[in-house]
Amino acid sequence: MITKEFLEDYSLFRKLKSGPFSPELQKWKKLPINMHCEVCNSMQTFNMKNEYYHVGDGSNDMNASNRVLDLKYQCQSCKSFQRRFFIHVSNDVDTIYKVGQYPEWEIKMDKNLEKTLNKHSINFRKGLVCESQGYGIGAFSYYRRITEDIIDELLNSISDLIEEVHKKEYAEALEKTKTTRVTQEKIDIVKDLLPSILKPNGMNPLGVLHSELSEGLHASTDESCLENANHIKSILIFLINQIIQSKESAKSFSASMKSLLDKKAGK
Ligand SMILES: [Zn+2]
Repeated sequence: MITKEFLEDYSLFRKLKSGPFSPELQKWKKLPINMHCEVCNSMQTFNMKNEYYHVGDGSNDMNASNRVLDLKYQCQSCKSFQRRFFIHVSNDVDTIYKVGQYPEWEIKMDKNLEKTLNKHSINFRKGLVCESQGYGIGAFSYYRRITEDIIDELLNSISDLIEEVHKKEYAEALEKTKTTRVTQEKIDIVKDLLPSILKPNGMNPLGVLHSELSEGLHASTDESCLENANHIKSILIFLINQIIQSKESAKSFSASMKSLLDKKAGK
């Protein structure tokens, strides 16, 4: 099945293998997507206005195999702004990827992330540029470099989120990470001590990061690196945003607790 995520987030040439897709295009579901509208200047729902089997030459061939599909999406609100996706379907109809998209896949950075990454945000942006072109090896290398550069700070900043009872254990592990310069080893030392707030649905982002980094570039193609690069990117974004948010909410929580207690004490 084609997915919302595929249309909204996948860069060019990143393959979606969730097949088998139906070989008959009329059975493919049309999915609404949420993307930015340049006319409304906000996030909007876009609906698909044509059929999967509609192509430029007006043919109505339903066979999905070995085709480039042309999807036209229109903003539901202004009914004028259009997005286009050109999607290649493999011979066996089990893999699809974008060969083109208008407007182009955006190389945009989250403001929080840019601020936090500071001087490393340049490499992050380069990683995004590589991704947008399908250069997986390049993207992977940039994201790995960022991880190596910020790992100490990242693990340090997790300390504040550790539950009181585990603080000592975490501090000891953190000390131990300083004995190695290898990023994977550092991650390995602390990954099982991660607080639950950093484990969405029980998944351990540091564990995934560890295995993605270990897999490395060994004989990997652009194609498989693109996949790994995307995972590393998502984990970095998740960890950084989650750490910032947790700290901010803890700050505002203690501030409001303090004012409440002050009030009670009649100050
Ligand atoms: Zn619009």
